[in-house]
Amino acid sequence: MSFDYDLFVIGGGSGGVRAARIAASEYGAKVGLAEESRMGGTCVIRGCVPKKLMIFAAQAGLMAEEMRGYGWCDAQSGTFSWEVFREKLDAELTRLELIYRAGLSRAGVEVHDQRARLAGHHEIELADGTRKSARHILIATGGRPALIGIPGEELAMVSDDLFVMDRLPGRALLVGGGFIACEFATILAGLGVDTVQAYRGDAVLRGFDREARDLATLQLSAVGVDLRLGLTPVALERAGAGIRVTFDDGTREEFDAVLMATGRDPYTKGLGLETTEVRLKRNGAIEVDEWSQTCVPSIFAVGDVTDRVNLTPVAIREGHSFVDTVFGARPRKVDHSVVASAVYLRPHELATVGLTEEEAHARGAVDVYSTVFRPMRSMFAGSDAKVMMKLLVDPVTDKVLGCHIFGPEAGEMIQLAAIPIGMGATKAQFDATIAVHPTAAEELVTMRSPSRRLQALSGTGLA
Ligand code: NDP
Repeated sequence: MSFDYDLFVIGGGSGGVRAARIAASEYGAKVGLAEESRMGGTCVIRGCVPKKLMIFAAQAGLMAEEMRGYGWCDAQSGTFSWEVFREKLDAELTRLELIYRAGLSRAGVEVHDQRARLAGHHEIELADGTRKSARHILIATGGRPALIGIPGEELAMVSDDLFVMDRLPGRALLVGGGFIACEFATILAGLGVDTVQAYRGDAVLRGFDREARDLATLQLSAVGVDLRLGLTPVALERAGAGIRVTFDDGTREEFDAVLMATGRDPYTKGLGLETTEVRLKRNGAIEVDEWSQTCVPSIFAVGDVTDRVNLTPVAIREGHSFVDTVFGARPRKVDHSVVASAVYLRPHELATVGLTEEEAHARGAVDVYSTVFRPMRSMFAGSDAKVMMKLLVDPVTDKVLGCHIFGPEAGEMIQLAAIPIGMGATKAQFDATIAVHPTAAEELVTMRSPSRRLQALSGTGLA
């Protein structure tokens, strides 16, 4: 049977674009790709990239404060212009989008700038009504912000809206305590917005190492975020040009803008999955095996739509592994077990790889090497900001199970720590490494004795 394409990719985000480009350029496949919005997907257009640029923009006040501590007595951050920043941001995103498009076009991928839906196990229907057939179909449609089902929540923004605001709000409420709420609380407070963050739990960033979470929680307040723990909105209503919010403790307050950062759902709506036998998980994510293959042999899925590890580099690796396996006869699976990540807060980021202390303890005894200190650079300037470095070590095998860093440029540090940890390095190998002095990172190779040994909980592995 002949097909219009060897591969048709639905979704022009990081995972889809990588798969399409490699299949066409390295393996000579005839590839089509459909994208309903801007090429580049969440990460490039409305996520990681513009967010990180906003983080840089938001640190002027902290930098000026630090410089005053170094003798630049009149250092000031000055006045921030959202209009100027936004124009530059738009130009940068357009530049990146063009690079993505050029890469696809050089590889010979046929791009369809429209929505596509499945119309069978080898069939795609485009929004203009055209039908295309493909030997293989890759679903890479990503995720969409999830709301929590309270009255009036349609008045709130979601993260997509933050990058296209006409002006900065005077007073904003951010709902949630995850990646997006914490990063944008840091950004908005840094840009001078009166920022309130309401989170239902007792420390932000659930799922991360508890000690690091506590430091992140303290830091949010220290940078001027009015962080309200144990609080959730129950209703939103219009109040003039603003929004009146009722919270679950009965209080009411008005804001110029509300951002719901309450998680993301896999984006499968209207995808035509009912025309196939593809199975979904309970949360609506596409069920795939370790080869990113659905239960329909011709249909694969990668990235956030499969809800495995929802990070751009993971989607890219999944997309690349899929084409190596299917088109390059080089079977390659993705190891999702040791994936580093970072939350871009300021002044200190939270970065992590491997097990948290709580996870390591749940699996058996663990030696905790942890140090909390004021780093030279900010301490000299008069700041109380604390850094934390933590290694979790298996006392029997000496293997480093996890590393958690709360500090300046922690994301940059964890990238390097992830290499030995992914290779199964032991604490002795960390210790054998000579320190780079004076750095904060040298603590990772100079922590000689454990801060504590946690014995195995009854019923878990080691005694
Ligand atoms: P997260 O899953 O990280 O956080 C969602 C937050 O919303 C949690 O604090 C959660 O609380 C809260 N929440 C969920 N449901 C409710 C509810 N019904 N009422 C009140 N609060 C609720 O999602 P984000 O939206 O912050 O980010 C989505 C994903 O995007 C992340 O998981 C990550 O994969 C990716 N991302 C990665 C970044 C990075 O790598 N730096 C940056 C930004 C996003 P609780 O914890 O109590 O469940």
